[in-house]
Amino acid sequence: MGEFSLIDLIRERCAITRDDVRIGIGDDAAVLTVPPNHQLVVSMDTLIDGVHFPSGTSPFDIGWKSLAVNLSDLAAMGATPAWATLALTLPNADRNWVSEFCDGFSALAGEYKLALVGGDTTRGSLSMTVTIHGFVSDGAALLRSGARVGDFVFVTGTLGDAAAALRRLADASTDDALVRRLNRPTPRVAQGLELRGRARACIDISDGLLADLGHVCTASGVGAEIDVDSLPASPELLSAFARDERHRLQLGGGDDYELCFTAPEAVARVLLEDLARSGCGATQIGRIVAGSGVRVVDAKGAAVDVGVSGWDHFRA
Ligand code: ADP
Ligand code: MG
Repeated sequence: MGEFSLIDLIRERCAITRDDVRIGIGDDAAVLTVPPNHQLVVSMDTLIDGVHFPSGTSPFDIGWKSLAVNLSDLAAMGATPAWATLALTLPNADRNWVSEFCDGFSALAGEYKLALVGGDTTRGSLSMTVTIHGFVSDGAALLRSGARVGDFVFVTGTLGDAAAALRRLADASTDDALVRRLNRPTPRVAQGLELRGRARACIDISDGLLADLGHVCTASGVGAEIDVDSLPASPELLSAFARDERHRLQLGGGDDYELCFTAPEAVARVLLEDLARSGCGATQIGRIVAGSGVRVVDAKGAAVDVGVSGWDHFRA
């Protein structure tokens, strides 16, 4: 099977039509229409075999995850997803592998009517890069830089499951709930849309809460105080790990793909109710304070040293 029949296969398996796609896969470039009075929001993420997913992860899960991590970035901007391009590098032209990869990609793309409009197909070590495009109405994007002293800090969903799965991978079965969180993260797109005009700052948690909330603090010129006992945990995480280890996974582990956002106290109650109605609630985990950096404290306000920081590809 050659490059062009692979591309045909991808086009067939990932077929979603949209009126705003004038030209999709098949020409030298895609031609797309941005709705009036909207801004284009663009993000890109690469997954590399053995780095971003364990070698041996099913092609369906890799396809799902390659789109999920990108949708998560659009969610953090409060954007509505529209289009994606896919650069796929494969060690060989394996028709079954590509079919299952496309099925995983499409399962998630279908939920958002997201069209795959182009890409590139090459031979090499297994990796894929997705570029995603979405819209916000003019000026409505959620930024990292908007947090203000006194804001409450929130996260959607629960933290630490994916990091816990990586820790236990050797003995975990594939239908383990923690492994599912690692392999099929749920991007919080609907929640990002709820946050528009209400949250002051937002980021998605891909490298661990401490690292990513740290980015919000740096961009906003503020500090944050996190109450370690308020961190939301899944029942599976609670039953699998003791308190201190659980806190390390929740603060430092990556791959959560939850949203961390700040909002003024005055909007918090109604916002939390609306988020819960959207299918994924949020939890207050702390406050924005004057200063810089993220401080983890216990219920009495005393500093807790958990001995972790976030994930950094060039430092780990
Ligand atoms: P060119 O040589 O002009 O760059 P290609 O032969 O690489 O074009 O690609 C042909 C068409 O197939 C283009 O529209 C391109 O966007 C699309 N395409 C190639 N690889 C992929 C892929 N992995 N996913 C989606 N579309 C792809
Ligand atoms: Mg060309």
